[in-house]
Amino acid sequence: MNLLEVYLYGSPILKRPTMKVGELPDHFPRFLERMYAVMYNDDGIGLSANQVGVEQCFFIADFSLHDENMQREIFINPEIVESQGIVTQEEGCLSIPGVHEKVKRAYKIKVRYEGLDRNPVEKEFEGFPARVIQHEVDHLNGILFVERISPLKRSFIESKLRRIAEKGKTQTEPIKI
Ligand code: ZN
Repeated sequence: MNLLEVYLYGSPILKRPTMKVGELPDHFPRFLERMYAVMYNDDGIGLSANQVGVEQCFFIADFSLHDENMQREIFINPEIVESQGIVTQEEGCLSIPGVHEKVKRAYKIKVRYEGLDRNPVEKEFEGFPARVIQHEVDHLNGILFVERISPLKRSFIESKLRRIAEKGKTQTEPIKI
């Protein structure tokens, strides 16, 4: 099975807010496995649907890579309903390979979402998992982490971003699950 293609910085798909997930096809779990395959292949911890060209509001994450007591999880139609504290830490992104910058995020969040069984969940996360979730929810709203750094820092990575965008701007077609 071919790996799904990761849409890169510069793709218009990454700049468009995703659509709320409605009914999902029966083969959806298989599609998720394909997303996990791409994520692990690139050493990622989270991956949003639009990063593989699907304009729907969900993402996957595997927090066990960070904390063995946690597990992998899917967040369908996630919404951050509360946030507390601020912490600055370095982030990277599969859609912006080779770029790592410090980003300010809330330390603790409460998230409302649906799991794979589509039942509503409300859960609190803190520290690293909270950061991953905020990064992915940003993706689903068409926001990339490099938009959350200062214009000065951004100017230092501008040429790198332009190079990545050479390929990203050709990735204009969304895919269907
Ligand atoms: Zn990302």
